[in-house]
Formats: sequence, structure tokens, C-alpha cells
Amino acid sequence: MAATPDLVILNGRLITFDEARPQAQALAISGGTIAAVGSTEEMRGLAGPATRVFDAQGCTVLPGFIDSHVHLFGGSVELDYLNLYEVQGLDALTQAVRAEAARSDDAVVFAVQAAYDIMGPGRQTTRQDLDRVLPDRPFAMFAADHHTIWANTRALELGGILHGGETEAGSEIVMAPDGTATGELREPGAYKPVLRHTRYGGRDMEGLVTGANPSPMPGPDDRARDREQIAAGLRHCASHGITGLHNMDGNFYTAELLEELDAEGRLLCRTEIPFHLKSADPLDRLEEAAEMRRRFAGERLWTNRVKMFMDGVVESRTALMIRPYPGTDHIGDPVFEPDHYTEACVRIDAMGLQIATHAIGDLAIRRTLDGYEAARRVNGIRDSRHRVEHIEVLHPDDLPRFAELGVVASIQPGHAPRGHIFPAHGLDEVLHPDQIPLAFAWQTIRETGARVCFSTDWPVIQVDVMDSVRAAAAPLEMPVPWVDQRQSLTDTLRSYTFDNAWVEFSEDRKGQLKEGYLADVAVMDHDLEAMAPDRLNTARAALTVMGGSVTWEA
Ligand SMILES: [Zn+2]
Repeated sequence: MAATPDLVILNGRLITFDEARPQAQALAISGGTIAAVGSTEEMRGLAGPATRVFDAQGCTVLPGFIDSHVHLFGGSVELDYLNLYEVQGLDALTQAVRAEAARSDDAVVFAVQAAYDIMGPGRQTTRQDLDRVLPDRPFAMFAADHHTIWANTRALELGGILHGGETEAGSEIVMAPDGTATGELREPGAYKPVLRHTRYGGRDMEGLVTGANPSPMPGPDDRARDREQIAAGLRHCASHGITGLHNMDGNFYTAELLEELDAEGRLLCRTEIPFHLKSADPLDRLEEAAEMRRRFAGERLWTNRVKMFMDGVVESRTALMIRPYPGTDHIGDPVFEPDHYTEACVRIDAMGLQIATHAIGDLAIRRTLDGYEAARRVNGIRDSRHRVEHIEVLHPDDLPRFAELGVVASIQPGHAPRGHIFPAHGLDEVLHPDQIPLAFAWQTIRETGARVCFSTDWPVIQVDVMDSVRAAAAPLEMPVPWVDQRQSLTDTLRSYTFDNAWVEFSEDRKGQLKEGYLADVAVMDHDLEAMAPDRLNTARAALTVMGGSVTWEA
């Protein structure tokens, strides 16, 4: 013990993930690292007059949560817009939107998290519906999955697309027989003209849609607005005990905003920003990934990864499947040509970068594993820790390949029908019955010996850690052929901390409460191990510490 600790946390129930000392009561923090772990008496003895003493009151203390799949810019921006989660029907929508309109002087009144059937079961939303909601001002709303925006007539006029317009392939301004737009705008190429006029101009989407900077680059006012909102998003994450984030979209612009926040001491969560390679990009764009890695290489902000998309999502039948969806001849949307993808994997792997690929359907997962396998064949086996994101429908032949190839299973427990957040019964008609036993197969994958990491994909669902902990540890009981995939609380918490530190190659300094490790710590307001599992979502962070600094206190 060199210096007197800055902070001691006493009377806790520590889950350390340190095999040499799995449990303890207290710890001491000095100069941004954990100086000692032990009993309350021992740690109290280390404190000096200037040491802050925090009493954990018998609650759980564990390594700070790392959310290993988020969209920080988008999630932050959505905190600032009207949220329509669980809003149903014309009356409720009208009430919510008019209240928002009274508060906002934006060119387009905007809302997020709208349900596809917000106007009623089986009803398509039209511009005429939204004209009734808000007749005299432009109004538009985003679907929770970010694939669709619905706009009223004023918003379509403002975007110049009331009578249609040119869009890129894959996007559609849905048209009515009378030659006017219905109000439904599918995919970014169709909704961009409206989104451009919203408060954040859709700048938060660029890292996802193009992987390039916004064009034109934002002026100083917009830049400041974006930076402040990301700061609010980081505060929000810290309030849930989060000390680290793996972003899943990226561009230089986002990384620069985080760099500016870091310089002001306001980067409250350590954040990794990937380079996003789109399927239409030439592989020479990977030079930008190398440049990002050179420029962003700190302990709080860094790039070491390339993100790609292999398919869409099951709900809209765009996830890529080996067999056609039931009752159709359609297998989903292959985002990448397999050869192009494999070539990309070999090249990225040869650069020593990690790969994270969105793959939901069984064929998308297979092609992703094929790409990672090809990289090993060509470049030799190295400690690559390549990741597959989501893994919702898995073919039995591919189940053992995660462990065999050393590929990481990156899973969002809250996305499963059993996870309490999305409808429980939406997927049965989109899947064949024999696909269901290995759908969202968390425990089955874990039992093969594969590394399993947990995250939210915020803002697809909220970043709130304990909702996802409950989804994993206390899922809904589902009827046959669904299989029980319940996770133990210990495995769940380890996949949210220790394993997420490992997957970012930080296991020598993060993910454990251990002397010499970075002082990234979450103190909860309950003893999680004593709670009924289905009540876990009621627990919150009482204190969050990142790098020895308090980033949240209830
Ligand atoms: Zn995502």
C-alpha cells in the first residue's frame, strides 16, 4: 500500500471474478486503480482523513458493467426525443405528440420507438392518420427497429417527397394509387429527406448507414449539440453501473466527439469505436480502419475492430436463412456476397484487427463462421476473438464451431421472446418448428465451451443493465418446442463484466475486483444474490466508479 486511498467501499458483498479471492467485503481505490481488496476492517484501516468512505450496506459490489453492443450516438439522441414505447392507438398517440409539440420548436416534431401496429392490430399507419395526430406542423416517428419512418403530410412536403422521389436500391417511399406518398418511408434512402430536418438531422445514423462522416460536416452549433447529447447518454449509462461500452457503429466524427468529451473529463464510460465496413465498400476502405486505430488508442477511447452486417432481422424476414421462411420462397436478404465477405475477413484479420459481424439467421451465422475459418486458414491461428453478434437462429451443425474456432458469441438476452421486453409470441410463425430449439440458444451455446458475452444493442432496447440480467436469469417459461435457456446469475453477471473485458483484450486490467486492476466498479442498491430472480430488474446502481472517479451516485 503506497498512497492513502482516495475511496474505500465497505460492508459490501463483493463478486470479484478473481479466482484467488471470489468474495470479499471491501476494497480500496487509489489513483484510478484498485489498491486492495479484503475485509471491511482491513480496508477501514487503510483510510486516511482525506479518504472518502462509501458504505455499501450489504449490497452487491462488482466490476463495472461493460455493455458490449451499443449504438451510443443513436441511444443518446433517442433519450432527447419523445419515446412512444407502449403508446397504442390514435388517442394516446395524439395526446403524447401534442404535448411534445407544445414543448418543441423543431422544424419536425419527432418521436422514436413507434410500434408498427400503433394505429391498431394489422393497421398500416398513413400520413392521413398522422395528419389527425398533428395537422398543422410536420410530424414524423421512427420505428423501434430504425428501418421505417412514418411522416404526416407537412413533413413529407418539407422533405420534398409528398409526390415520391428517387431513392437508392433497397429503400422505398411507399406510394398510394393516387400518386402521393402513403407516409411510410422504408430504409434510410427513403426517410433521409425527412430525418434531415429533425433536431439531430439523422447525424447519429451515419456511423450505421454509411460508416462515413456526415456530409456536409456539421457546423459548430450542431457539433456542440451532438457532443452535449452524447455526454447525456454517457451519464445515463453510468447511472446503470456501466463503465465501458463497445460501440457497434462508427465514423471519425463520432470518435472525435468522444475525444473532445474525454479532453474535458466528461467521457464517463470507456468506449471502443469500430470502423464500419459496408458491403458495397471496396476493401481499400480498410485503410480508414488502420487510421482510426492509430488515432484512437487510449485507455478510455480506442479502435481495434471492424463491424459488418451479414443480414437483417427475423421479424421482417430479412434475416438470412438456409431454408425459405414458412409459406414463402424467400430466404431473407444476403447483405454481403459470401466471397466478398470472406475476402474482407481475411484482410481484416491479417491487419490484426478484431471482427464483429451482425448475423441473425442460420445461413448468415454459417457464412460468418466460414469467413472467420477462412481467415485462420489463410493467416494462421492467432488470438483473434472474432465475434458474432445476435445469433438468433442457429443450425445444429454450426453449434460446435464457436468453441472450435475460438469465436465469441455476443448475445442480447433482452431480445429473445422470453426476455420480457418484446412480444413473447411474435416469432413462432416466422420460424419452422425445428428451428426453435436452437433459437436464442444461450445455455446450449455456453455448454459447448464458447465464450458468451452479454449486451443490449441500445437503443433497440434500453441500456438498463438489470432488465437484461432479469431476461437472462429469469426468462419467461415458453411452450414446447422452445427450450429452457435460463442462465445462472453468476454466469449472467460474468458475461456482462469479466467476459466483456476479455473480449476487448483487457482481461489483464478490467473485469475483476483485484489489486492493480483499473478501478471500474459498480455498487448496487440490492444484494443481487439474495433477490428473487424475477425481481432483479428492480435493482439499480447506487454508485458507479470509473478509473477511480465517481461517475454516478444515486
Ligand atoms: Zn446493433
